Amino acid sequence: MRWALVGASTIASQHMIRAIRAQAGSEVARVVSGSRDRAEAYAREHGIPAFGTDLNEALADPAIDAVYISTTNEKHLKQALAAIAAGKHVLCEKPLAMTVPDAAAMVRAADEAGVTFATNHHLRCSGSHRAVRALIREGRVGKVLSVRVFHAVHLPENLQGWRINSAAEGGGVIPDITVHDADVVRFLLDEDPVSVVAQATSSGMGQGVEDSAMSVWAMPSGAMVMSHESFTHPFAGSGLEVHGTQGSIFARGVMTQKPVGEIELVDTADRHAIPFDAHDLYITGVAEFEAAVRGEGSPAATGIDGVKSLAVAAAVREAAEAGTRVTINYGG
Ligand code: NDP
Repeated sequence: MRWALVGASTIASQHMIRAIRAQAGSEVARVVSGSRDRAEAYAREHGIPAFGTDLNEALADPAIDAVYISTTNEKHLKQALAAIAAGKHVLCEKPLAMTVPDAAAMVRAADEAGVTFATNHHLRCSGSHRAVRALIREGRVGKVLSVRVFHAVHLPENLQGWRINSAAEGGGVIPDITVHDADVVRFLLDEDPVSVVAQATSSGMGQGVEDSAMSVWAMPSGAMVMSHESFTHPFAGSGLEVHGTQGSIFARGVMTQKPVGEIELVDTADRHAIPFDAHDLYITGVAEFEAAVRGEGSPAATGIDGVKSLAVAAAVREAAEAGTRVTINYGG
């Protein structure tokens, strides 16, 4: 498959170029950037044969099959709609858009055009998260009573740009990390949160946007979810816990881009170390996207998943701002 990158971004250089090139027969054929100089430098650094600033020119290239969008969040909508209109398959970064209706419009357009459209929620591709999900589905914890998600990290210095100071570009920890946690919980429990209460604050990094959030979600099954995200916690470590009537799962160090961490299941019998596959999350995500394009299965996180996970994050922000419980609006 021949890919065009839209956005000369960090995530593409750190993970997605490698992930595309790891697929048999796939290549990164072009990069589109807002700046010609950056496009040229990026193309040279990564050995990408074509570069430019004109998205339409890239989309007019019939040799391009798929587009990976990793620009700042406010640009995703327009770029995705253009790529879909040109008949390209689209893998779009999270959050899909600035608002739930915009994200839903992207999914609708892709459906109408008959192209594959997916969200790059990489954590669904992690062997650790898939192992936790399997334990829950096999009934190893009984009925799930609660989930705790620990995702307070220290934002690396090279990412301390628009994420911490630009609401207009989609900054803030809620669109950046809460949206991932929403997707993880939806993936693990196979149900969508109903309502949330939340608080958010700036604890030293956020300028005009929140850098920390805590929220509690009510699930249709009656389970409660507690979620904590931050940019300012150097030593907190990440993880998630699933507590059920028959057992508890402790997954430590798993809210990450790498196939690392450890999982323990505790029940009346014992403490069980749970093995999991250590495949690359991004290579798996691109492989499943390309398979979906070939008509084999569905992407790890679909467009609908991107819309729903954004809806949860949007509700968390609204609840934090309003100081009241918010019922999540998935847009019908
Ligand atoms: P970056 O800040 O690295 O890139 C975003 C945009 O900023 C690029 O498209 C580029 O614009 C511009 N840019 C990049 N570097 C420079 C520079 N040195 N000088 C000026 N402009 C620059 O963001 P990320 O890669 O961290 O995030 C991009 C998207 O990916 C976001 O939507 C984010 O939420 C998502 N993301 C997803 C992750 C995941 O694991 N699923 C992980 C990290 C991010 P231009 O388009 O003009 O080239």
